[in-house]
Amino acid sequence: MTDPCRDCREGHDHCHGTVIHHASSGRVECTEFCVTPEGWHSFSIDCDAVGCTCVETVVVTRDVQAS
Ligand SMILES: [Zn+2]
Ligand SMILES: [Zn+2]
Ligand SMILES: [Zn+2]
Repeated sequence: MTDPCRDCREGHDHCHGTVIHHASSGRVECTEFCVTPEGWHSFSIDCDAVGCTCVETVVVTRDVQAS
């Protein structure tokens, strides 16, 4: 696992951070705070995977009715 990735070897501009997609706004941000375009990242995840609550969707509100 000591080999650099192919993009590193070839000197391509890219980022090893993870792009986080924010569901509410469609914004993306990188864990490395880079300025590399989104498509040049190896990893991308949805923001709720990192505990972001920007979306606060209407999930399962029906299950919490008082009985
Ligand atoms: Zn690389
Ligand atoms: Zn978010
Ligand atoms: Zn990045």
